[in-house]
Amino acid sequence: MNVARLLSKAAVAYRDRPALRWGDASLTYGELDDLVSRTAAGLVGRGVGHGDRVAIFMRNRPEYAVALLAVMRAGGCVVPVNVKLHARELAYVLANAEARALVLGGEEAEAVEQALAESPVQVLVRVGDGGPGEAFASVLAAAGDGLADAEVAPDDLAWLFYTSGTTGFPKGAMLTHRNLVAMTMNTLADVVAFDREDVVLHAAPLSHGCGLYLLASLARGADNLLYAGAGFDPAEVVGLLERERVSVIAFLAPTMIVRLLDAPPADTSALRCVVYGGAPMHVDTIRRALARFGQVFVQIYGQGEAPMTISALRREDHDPDDAEALASTGIARTDVEIRIVDEDGRDVAPGETGEVAVRGDVVMRGYWRNEEATSRSLREGWLHTGDIGRLDERGRLFLLDRKNDMIISGGSNIYPREVEEVLVQHPGVGEAIVFGLPDPEWGENVVACVVPAAGASPTADELIAFCRDHLASFKKPKRVELLDALPKNAYGKVLRRELRDRLLAEDAAP
Ligand code: AMP
Repeated sequence: MNVARLLSKAAVAYRDRPALRWGDASLTYGELDDLVSRTAAGLVGRGVGHGDRVAIFMRNRPEYAVALLAVMRAGGCVVPVNVKLHARELAYVLANAEARALVLGGEEAEAVEQALAESPVQVLVRVGDGGPGEAFASVLAAAGDGLADAEVAPDDLAWLFYTSGTTGFPKGAMLTHRNLVAMTMNTLADVVAFDREDVVLHAAPLSHGCGLYLLASLARGADNLLYAGAGFDPAEVVGLLERERVSVIAFLAPTMIVRLLDAPPADTSALRCVVYGGAPMHVDTIRRALARFGQVFVQIYGQGEAPMTISALRREDHDPDDAEALASTGIARTDVEIRIVDEDGRDVAPGETGEVAVRGDVVMRGYWRNEEATSRSLREGWLHTGDIGRLDERGRLFLLDRKNDMIISGGSNIYPREVEEVLVQHPGVGEAIVFGLPDPEWGENVVACVVPAAGASPTADELIAFCRDHLASFKKPKRVELLDALPKNAYGKVLRRELRDRLLAEDAAP
């Protein structure tokens, strides 16, 4: 099934209900579907053929959803690029994806067009400030009849998902219609059964988790509110929750939840579900979030290569008194298998730590034009995630770190996550990140970078002593740097290796 069919079917059932809202603009399901059909026809009229890659570089706005669905309806493959990336990084993705066209937001146009001066990519739309109908009708949507959903094979490409690239160049995970339909079904089964009565807030970028969740929420006829702010303003977000009686927040990175904790009081009683994931959530933080917003949280673990769908910690398992459950990422999703394997791909003993391997219809077809990376991560039908974890006797998955982030000090393995979990329990700590730096005696030393909590000024010695009281001594940081902020990528993930390299360079400087 073409994944765009989720919308065409919803448009029949929910024609006059609100589908998308953004500031003062709104589209019903009927209007959205019509615009998607005409835009798909416009794309085909401009030469976009079956399987052609069409990139989108735009802030969250209704046109984003239109472009996303229109490319798929036309049988093309969408390449969403986070709008916070530099124009040069966008140029890299466009060249790597061999994109045929780019749908561009007006705000970004100038910088991008300069960076693309040499590129063969055709810039299709510059979405301005007009309403969604106006921008697309005048630029891209065909005047006459729209297009029905193109016939596609289950393994045809629907979405080229560029990994967020906390290191190196991003790779394009090839997501097929089968993958996205499986992801949608699983979201509805295991994460949140969106409903036509729901008001769903999409506050994170549509190029990532929110765009993926939009498919499930449109399929069920929900009213989708796109957050129009330029960044993530916690006061504005809680204001929206109160004013619009938001019932589901589609997806938040843990750092966004940290920021919501500082938001002014608001009536959020309509909230029934907040989905979060994409990076480690510390036990202390989720406890504070549960105390403030109630037992409404669902944690998901996934990666671009198995979009949003590996394990989930369900709402009912977010028991504030169960620290063990809160430290886990929950159990394998209903139609996903998880194994923990060693370097040779063999199962480790029960309860032991190893690499998380995953199988299911949600797993990508491979990396775009990258046989070598594909054969490294897809082996004998299993996706090797590069994440280190263990399963407990109840099937709960505990994630430690990325394979390459493990620290080896004096021959012992130390996972940064364990040390970070302890540091954030200290009342003076806002955020913490841990990594290893080379040491002639120990091989590596544990180093922590800490951003103090608002108004606090903890000392390095105090934090090291705190870790010594809560951890095996060899795991405590030997050095703590206090910083104003941590470097993060466009999706809010802390750039651990960038920080490590920065410290290394500073240490090496005369
Ligand atoms: P991306 O492909 O950009 O979505 O990044 C996926 C990576 O983020 C995973 O491989 C994990 O390392 C990390 N990640 C995703 N979800 C979680 C989670 N719930 N807890 C901890 N780490 C996570």
